[in-house]
Amino acid sequence: MHIHEYQAKTLFSRRHIQIPKGILIDSTAKASDACKVLGGDIWVVKAQVHAGGRGKGGGVVLCRSVEEVGRTCSQLLGSQLITPQTDTKGLPVGQLLIEAGQNIERELYLGLLIDKQTQKITVLTSTEGGMDIEKVASETPDKIIKFGIDPLGSLSVSVQDCILMAQKLGLNTELTKQFNSTLLGLYEIFTQKDVNLIEINPLIVTQENQLLALDGKIDFDDNALYRHEDIAKLRDISQEDAKERIASEYQFNYISLDGTIGCMVNGAGLAMATMDLIEHFGGSPANFLDVGGGTTADRVAKAFELIQTEANVKGIFVNIFGGIVRCDLIAHGILQAIQTVGLTLPIVVRLEGTNAPKGLNLLGKSEFNIHVESDLTKAAIKIVELTK
Ligand code: GDP
Ligand code: MN
Repeated sequence: MHIHEYQAKTLFSRRHIQIPKGILIDSTAKASDACKVLGGDIWVVKAQVHAGGRGKGGGVVLCRSVEEVGRTCSQLLGSQLITPQTDTKGLPVGQLLIEAGQNIERELYLGLLIDKQTQKITVLTSTEGGMDIEKVASETPDKIIKFGIDPLGSLSVSVQDCILMAQKLGLNTELTKQFNSTLLGLYEIFTQKDVNLIEINPLIVTQENQLLALDGKIDFDDNALYRHEDIAKLRDISQEDAKERIASEYQFNYISLDGTIGCMVNGAGLAMATMDLIEHFGGSPANFLDVGGGTTADRVAKAFELIQTEANVKGIFVNIFGGIVRCDLIAHGILQAIQTVGLTLPIVVRLEGTNAPKGLNLLGKSEFNIHVESDLTKAAIKIVELTK
């Protein structure tokens, strides 16, 4: 799960990571008051959307008067912001963060993630922070300093490691102190809140010799959200696409792929086996979908709806093992769902388990474009054939 910049910054400041003064607004009417409270004569208006690249997409605007702040706010609020990291529709802007403008001396990068190769939390840092960090990473990777943290070591970043990194970044004594507390703060959030990625880009050095988190990005592990109520509350569904929303509402495990066969399966292992079999017979899955246990008609309908949003789907393969659920109930659910969703694509249904013959019989008799099969291999061959 992603959160907004302003939310990330709140988490930062609780861990003593320095951030610029800022005020969140949701209407232009509040803009001039915000400027007054912040003081100064330069403000930055920042669109709050779940995507980076806002600077390049016109979502981060430096303003030199209160009027300019007002104009910028009215342009941005209610618009769709398109950045190099969004799709062509962009993301809705419902909130703006207005910040006191900073005198930037240098823009650094600091981030933490789990490096799956080394199986360690890894600190990434660079003197080349800012809007082109992706380019730096791909064209001059030696400018990115990597630092693995031993999970069996001190359970934190050691002061020596912090100092070493600060040295490589060319920070003076005062900034090194600030860097240490920033890095330790990030590490604390990372480990305490089950984070996948946490990033400050840019981490700036101001002309006043201060280290400030000018931006903040945090991606949390969805599977651990149940134990972080405070974080789960930060969710903003206006920033999620319909697919993700349905999947998370119904607790489906759903991953889009680029093939043509939509898959609806109960159980992750069975879903993997189904995809393997489709590939084996020369087809390609359009998605991974585990609808989980306790499959009901409503869930089946939602799953069909989800699969139908994939533009490239030419047919659907339903593979359900009736262990706890009864196959005849699933069959009813499928028929009901086809009607509700208005499905016209060819469907192959393989049912096995409790009351499977009854279920297959029900489906076989129906007026819809359904092919029934109790043998998994035959079913896979059939759906590949139908989508060729
Ligand atoms: P992103 O493009 O979505 O990553 O948004 P950022 O929050 O990183 O802002 C993009 C860029 O705007 C930064 O890299 C800075 O160069 C610039 N910027 C943001 N705030 C200020 C500020 O207070 N003063 C100045 N001069 N530039 C800023
Ligand atoms: Mn940024």
